[in-house]
Amino acid sequence: MTTMTSQTIVGLTFFILSMGVQAHESTAHYMANEGLMVEHGDTKILFDPLFRNDYGQYMLLPEEMEEALFAGAAPFEGIDAVFISHHHGDHFSPIDMIRLLREQPDIRLYAPNQAVIAMRSESSNVDADIFERVIAVSLEYKDAPVTLNMEGLLIEAVRIPHSGWPTGRLDIENIVWRVTLNEDTTVLHMGDADPNDVHFAQDAQYWNRNIPHMAFPPYWFFSSASGREILNNRVKAKRYVGVHVPVSIPADPLLRPVELRGFDLFTSPGETRTISTED
Ligand SMILES: [Zn+2]
Ligand SMILES: [Zn+2]
Repeated sequence: MTTMTSQTIVGLTFFILSMGVQAHESTAHYMANEGLMVEHGDTKILFDPLFRNDYGQYMLLPEEMEEALFAGAAPFEGIDAVFISHHHGDHFSPIDMIRLLREQPDIRLYAPNQAVIAMRSESSNVDADIFERVIAVSLEYKDAPVTLNMEGLLIEAVRIPHSGWPTGRLDIENIVWRVTLNEDTTVLHMGDADPNDVHFAQDAQYWNRNIPHMAFPPYWFFSSASGREILNNRVKAKRYVGVHVPVSIPADPLLRPVELRGFDLFTSPGETRTISTED
């Protein structure tokens, strides 16, 4: 027979209290460029986590971070799902994603069809089983947004053209992911979305019906008037943290170009933000 000591009771109380705190709080962890992790309790998702090209101006993952990701070591233990915005070298590496799925057999991948096709062309028959955990999203420009579900996640996707529209990169399937974790915290990852309201105006109801607690726009949404209007009038997130920030832009807001001084930006791998769901 066991008896409960007061120490055990204190420990249990602390455990229950900390569970209570977790139930209301999520954290965003910055990786590099547009790579980030969002966690809520035991639920963890990644956006654009593995890529190899910095195009001479963007941040790459630190080596230790990349090793931890492949190994499933802290803070990347127990990742549930990975979301890819688009098949560009500063967001996605097909071969590395195959490796991650092979080494971490519980991860599911959600990616635009274009990215999945690239993975298939890189993989051998030996890898065939990893594709059972890959969900390809096939969306054309102006298609209605789609909704997917997995345990703990409500996943919504819409295709917003890549920046450069209407003259460049029209073939790139850029997906804006809106993900709600445990019916509690909603985040929005925008990939390399083009900041023209015409893309957002046609799905006005979609943008109104699940307001993100935190959104991660590429920094050019802050530095253009049309981008700021989209954030204010369509996305309406409670809070924004800009991503895809060139390494030439300093972490210190006072040293940044004037149009980026008033915004929160992710600039250092490993930095975090608490995502509040309180009003
Ligand atoms: Zn791109
Ligand atoms: Zn990019």
